[in-house]
Amino acid sequence: MTDTEGGDFIRDIIRKDLEAGATPIVTRFPPEPNGYLHIGHAKSICLNFGVAEEFGGVCHLRFDDTNPAKEDVEYIESIQEDLRWLGFDWGDHLHFASDYFEQLYDWALHLIEAGNAYVDDLSADEIREYRGTLTEPGRNSPHRDRSPSENATLFEQMRNGDFPDGAKVLRAKIDMSSGNINLRDPVLYRIMRTTHPRTGNTWNIYPNYDFAHGQSDAIEGVTHSLCTLEFADHRPLYDWLLNNLPVPGHPRQYEFARLNLTYTMLSKRRLMQLVVDGHVDGWDDPRMPTISGLHRRGIPAAAIRDFAQRIGLTKSNSTVEYALLEHCARELLNKTAQRRMAVLRPLKIVIENYPEGDGELLDAVNNPENEADGMRQVPFSKEIYIEHDDFMEDPPKKFFRLGPGREVRLRYAYFLTCREAIKDGAGKIVELRCTYDPETRGGNAPDGRKVKATLHWVSAAHAKPAEVRLYDHLFTSENPGANDDISSDINPDSLEVLQNCQLEPALADAPLDETLQYERLGYFCPDTTSTPDKLVFNRTVGLRDVWARMQKQAANSKGR
Ligand code: ATP
Ligand code: MG
Repeated sequence: MTDTEGGDFIRDIIRKDLEAGATPIVTRFPPEPNGYLHIGHAKSICLNFGVAEEFGGVCHLRFDDTNPAKEDVEYIESIQEDLRWLGFDWGDHLHFASDYFEQLYDWALHLIEAGNAYVDDLSADEIREYRGTLTEPGRNSPHRDRSPSENATLFEQMRNGDFPDGAKVLRAKIDMSSGNINLRDPVLYRIMRTTHPRTGNTWNIYPNYDFAHGQSDAIEGVTHSLCTLEFADHRPLYDWLLNNLPVPGHPRQYEFARLNLTYTMLSKRRLMQLVVDGHVDGWDDPRMPTISGLHRRGIPAAAIRDFAQRIGLTKSNSTVEYALLEHCARELLNKTAQRRMAVLRPLKIVIENYPEGDGELLDAVNNPENEADGMRQVPFSKEIYIEHDDFMEDPPKKFFRLGPGREVRLRYAYFLTCREAIKDGAGKIVELRCTYDPETRGGNAPDGRKVKATLHWVSAAHAKPAEVRLYDHLFTSENPGANDDISSDINPDSLEVLQNCQLEPALADAPLDETLQYERLGYFCPDTTSTPDKLVFNRTVGLRDVWARMQKQAANSKGR
């Protein structure tokens, strides 16, 4: 068991309940399978699975599959895959609200028999109109006083498919003048003659979220039903239903603030729109805030868990900087990622005084943060590539990298001096002629002379070509879609594809799920489409830490 001292209001509640002698806790993560999981869900997942683990309880995975019109097996599968990848295990507690349809139907009849529910013929529009507003009470439906036996018959006919979709609904009979609109005779069942991914054509009626959720919690013995703030107003209904039904237990619902993140949006409906409109390459596009997108981009699962922990839990909504997520990834990867050399925009160098032939192997450190990662050998030869922008023909004062007549260090290799820049007909620099100092093998001069820059490089004869994809925010606005038109906020430059990048040969063997550091450039991982014949890498994050800079600025302005 991990540390249970860590504090937030939900853990405080659970700790008190356990001290008061409660049985082991049971939580659940209840996704609706109508899209892929996003980083907002990760907050809820880390909370539900996290507290279960910390307090010796269990967490169930329960699909809230009550709306077959929008749900699909593809989502049921992707959600489980993402959860497993995130590192969570529900054991044999994989449940579906649809497993309880028969029980829920019986409980609906129970409400009918007790005079607590009725079949209504009003249309959806009429129901809305009768509901009233925040300042005006609602009005009773003309069908509100049907007898229990008439209601039972009608409800059975609804189930049998005797009425068209939308012709009738089952409503709880609570209070049309309640200050809480959720208690103004909420709809519990609607007619939907749609095939369900799991129950097929068995049902012509489906319970809605409010009727399925609390009762499913009760059936599963959930003790703490944790959800986001927008359900706080539903809690009185949640409790009303449990109080009026012969359920085996009464779970308690607690609400916390949902995660909002800058430069993106966390809503399956809107993410679906990006996919359908072709703004991205599927739900797992590396620019998507989906778990599968972050995974494909190379963000480690542990960084997502760390992020979820750092943002904490509150009872008021706020927006978290996207840079914090990147910071978590960078901080973890700095400790764990293997270093490699790769050149994204190659400029060829011919080392005039280096012998012709196969060259030599040089020792390189795999990860200066972790000695156990050891060393590897990197081939070096007469022709190498460096980064095009590591050379300037007429360098300004503060540019310490390569220029005509200048000496720099090639990482793990030698000191190198530029003798001449070769240009094509258009005046573009296409090659450098350089010399090296054979006395500086390993990167140090025996005479103690210093250089001001160390460049990464790749041996031209040994390099593996690759496509490298650089990503930026999918949106130009910090709060995209504020005016409901997301397309105007789309960043046209969110993807830059570089062809013919040159990688050190070891990168050709990088496993799909490993994110590595390209020295001086950032963290990269093979894309899911990468093959040995066509290597494709994604940039996970750059090295520059926007979050750390923001923190520093904030600290400075406070100190002033
Ligand atoms: P979306 O609007 O993206 O469809 P949802 O809340 O409808 O989200 P569900 O599948 O119903 O999605 O959510 C499963 C669980 O995840 C719920 O308990 C919900 O409260 C939680 N959740 C969803 N979005 C967030 C978020 N942004 N932050 C924290 N928890 C979230
Ligand atoms: Mg939902």
